[in-house]
Amino acid sequence: MPAKIIDGRPLAQRIQSEIKSAVDEFQARAGAVPGLGVVLVGADPASAMYVRMKRRACERAGLRSEARILPAASTQAEVENAVRAFNADPNIHGILVQLPLPDHIDGEAVLSEISLAKDVDGIHPLNLGRLGMRGTEPTFTPATPTGVMQLIEETGEAIEGKGAVVIGRSNIVGLPVALMLMKANATVTICHSRSRDLPGTVRRADIVVAAIGRAEYVKGAWLKPGAIVIDVGSNSVPDPESEKGYRYVGDVEFESAQAIAGYISKVPGGVGPMTITMLLSNTLKAARRSLEA
Ligand code: NAP
Repeated sequence: MPAKIIDGRPLAQRIQSEIKSAVDEFQARAGAVPGLGVVLVGADPASAMYVRMKRRACERAGLRSEARILPAASTQAEVENAVRAFNADPNIHGILVQLPLPDHIDGEAVLSEISLAKDVDGIHPLNLGRLGMRGTEPTFTPATPTGVMQLIEETGEAIEGKGAVVIGRSNIVGLPVALMLMKANATVTICHSRSRDLPGTVRRADIVVAAIGRAEYVKGAWLKPGAIVIDVGSNSVPDPESEKGYRYVGDVEFESAQAIAGYISKVPGGVGPMTITMLLSNTLKAARRSLEA
């Protein structure tokens, strides 16, 4: 039997409409709407597209969004000042620094400037550390990994005690996903570009999260039958049949994986819509907390 599709779109729509109602309630109570501040440095087209998508999602859900778009040649001080300005702005409840930053910018220093109360992408080094530490919780968990966890939970299968393999160890996806799975009591293996025998490791996993950035790299034949497969990858590949000349595929070869897995997320329509939704949800949460402070 082919794998059940874990569809991120209806789930994201359902959560976004709940957020919209909650934003209306917040506005009635606070006389203002939750605000997201985005810092974008440079003109990378993919980053600019992600920022536009986030702005549109904010508009749909009734949130305010403000972007500070700085030239690629900006200094460290200019980028840090953009973050500080959002920290000081009472109309901004959440701050997102669009990554990657240009090479000459010290990313850790910039991310460390984000107020913990406004770190809605859970990317402040202290929050990432707290995610891994027992007995502590970050102020917010990162958007994409939180979306991954929600998709796994959508299957209704327990995570506790399962063997999970996360392929990729980036600060924004692989590492936090692995830490969140560990907090949910999975037994986690992290693989990366130097790992040996990736197919053999993947074959032992009940849960596979692919966050590599290589089109259709993980094959169905690698999977344990019935595994839960979450594909974070978003890779554009040439497609002469599409109007744009390209299409997006994941890190998992969907057709062969669907034949073996128990559950599988699609690209597009899996993790992508969940990422934006989690960002909106965290911004709403930050705004509500600001009323309690
Ligand atoms: P990244 O920073 O480039 O990290 C890629 C990771 O994959 C690294 O840890 C790398 O290992 C590992 N890797 C590369 N080649 C490998 C191989 N042959 N075998 C095993 N591991 C390998 O990428 P990222 O930012 O984490 O993003 C990963 C993917 O997710 C990309 O396609 C990105 O577009 C997508 N993404 C999607 C969303 C969304 O919302 N849908 C959000 C974020 C990212 P090393 O550490 O050894 O280099």
